[in-house]
Amino acid sequence: MRTIAVVGASVAGTRAARSLRNAGFDGRLVLVGDDARTPYDRPPLSKGFLAGTQGEADLALLDTDDEAELALELRLGARVEQLDAHAGRLRLADGHEIGADGVVVATGGRPRRLPGSEGVEGVHVLRTLDDAVALRSALTDSTSRVVVVGAGFLGAEVASTCRGMGLDVTLLDASPLPLAALLGERIARCCAALHSAHGTDVRHGRSVARLRTAPSGRGARVTGVELDDGTVLPADVVVTGLGIVPNTEWLEGSGLRLGNGVHTDAGMVTDVPTVVAVGDVARYGATEGTRRHEHWTSAGEQADVAATNLLAGHTTVTFRPSGYFWSDQYGRTLQLAGHPGPDDRVEIVDGDPEDRFTARYTDASGTTTAVFGMGSARAFGRLRRAELGRAGPARAVQPA
Ligand SMILES: Cc1cc2nc3c(=O)[nH]c(=O)nc-3n(C[C@H](O)[C@H](O)[C@H](O)COP(=O)(O)OP(=O)(O)OC[C@H]3O[C@@H](n4cnc5c(N)ncnc54)[C@H](O)[C@@H]3O)c2cc1C
Repeated sequence: MRTIAVVGASVAGTRAARSLRNAGFDGRLVLVGDDARTPYDRPPLSKGFLAGTQGEADLALLDTDDEAELALELRLGARVEQLDAHAGRLRLADGHEIGADGVVVATGGRPRRLPGSEGVEGVHVLRTLDDAVALRSALTDSTSRVVVVGAGFLGAEVASTCRGMGLDVTLLDASPLPLAALLGERIARCCAALHSAHGTDVRHGRSVARLRTAPSGRGARVTGVELDDGTVLPADVVVTGLGIVPNTEWLEGSGLRLGNGVHTDAGMVTDVPTVVAVGDVARYGATEGTRRHEHWTSAGEQADVAATNLLAGHTTVTFRPSGYFWSDQYGRTLQLAGHPGPDDRVEIVDGDPEDRFTARYTDASGTTTAVFGMGSARAFGRLRRAELGRAGPARAVQPA
């Protein structure tokens, strides 16, 4: 291969570029991203950056040494509008074309919006650095009451950071027990209790009926959130954390199989062997069907696998996710590794489930499927090594 184009310049794209070089690719490597900023990392946006303890320089995914070492041709602020996967041709919004023998799709996702919230002042999403700058400015600008809609990890972190800033926070979720589908009921209850213990007003099993607004200079400004039971929660700022929509529109008509992501095989290779997909946008073939991961660690794990297979011209290794992710809330790091099943038994291995602890998930045969830690990074690391092996393999060589 002489030219590989990586589309999407966030963690999956930059990691894919690195993996390609590590795997020996020495041709032209073009990294195209529609965000004009130098590639940056997203996890701090809901944590230290939002709290004001980290600045923009702390977010860099690539420094100038990396760029030189990776010999990257960076095209930032450049949107790819079309891909012809079979011909290996990309068309940019400014009319330029890039011919590439190999393509890495790493275009991630954008936040799902609350219906009726578009253009309403005081309502925020959090995905980009610009979103984080705008939210931080709103939170420090005489705001006192924040309603966070959606109690997944993103919403939970925003709630935690806002509490750390001394704001009144309500965390709202339509599900009776957020995170239960992922972590099981016992651990999900511990996560919910952590919010209450830190003064966040937790409202589960209630959804938004509509936003209350008042006229403002530029249109409408949010004043509160009306729930489906008629309760009105006054709010100066509303933050929605309702998940993402994968960015695949630019791939319509490309020849790739789409559907809530870009479909790939278990080696991150699409139906066209010269195109691979990685990160939040990739829907890969797993044993239990197809799956997308929306976690930082999976993006890097997938990048290694995709790079190997792209250079080989077919699938030689498959993605075996470690299932690892972390989230920082109220001074504690929550960590999961492995793959808990819905019927797994959960056992607290040590610590206090109302504060800091580690837990093990086991299936019906007594095999450990996952380990979890809250505010207990060292104990979690030990338990993970003991129960799941070192970091857990992210790739597996396919049998010949
Ligand atoms: C605030 C926040 C906090 C998070 N915290 C954690 C955490 O603590 N732990 C964890 O495991 N995960 C966390 N995550 C999730 C993690 O950051 C994501 O899984 C990760 O960013 C996915 O990377 P990606 O490169 O696949 O996609 P993205 O980060 O979405 O990047 C895709 C890039 O492609 C660009 N793009 C899209 N379409 C085009 C196009 N047509 N042409 C050119 N460029 C395009 C986009 O602008 C974007 O820059 C967090 C996410 C957010 C938003």
